[in-house]
Amino acid sequence: MRVYASSSAKIRAIAEASARISGKAYKCFHACAGLFNTKMTTCEECKGECCRKLAFHIQEPKSMIDFEDMKWYLYHEGCILYIDNEGDWLVQVPVKCAKLDRNGRCSIYDRRPPICRLSKVEECEKNIDEMKVVFRTVKDLENYMRKKGIL
Ligand code: SF4
Ligand code: SF4
Repeated sequence: MRVYASSSAKIRAIAEASARISGKAYKCFHACAGLFNTKMTTCEECKGECCRKLAFHIQEPKSMIDFEDMKWYLYHEGCILYIDNEGDWLVQVPVKCAKLDRNGRCSIYDRRPPICRLSKVEECEKNIDEMKVVFRTVKDLENYMRKKGIL
């Protein structure tokens, strides 16, 4: 299982980690405001949505047993599953980073991990809807299984 921390922008950040570029306007509470047009949500407005959850890639379920295991994720309060625009399956867990302060700012901003530095605000969950299919409940999953002829 590939394990990526946090949300969509951070997932992309990991994918791009091998091509690190410094000095650009990545996820940044201070730098993003004003760089983009007014339609884009800024980190100032958002207060750290991407720092309040973890997302992990999981293997696409194929068999009935796989789907039963998908239910296990959904039995956990607040967890959701989704298929992203690239067809990948992910589980999202609602857990806040301990370094996010009360004002929705990173308290270790200058020392934040590369995964955070490389996340791009223009590709984050506030600015791109990357959830093609969302499963919030077991019923959502079963409906999908019926549609696919698995149930
Ligand atoms: S979700 Fe987007 S807008 Fe919100 S803090 Fe993260 S990068 Fe900034
Ligand atoms: S280290 Fe800072 S930027 Fe990274 S997830 Fe935590 S609060 Fe957010």
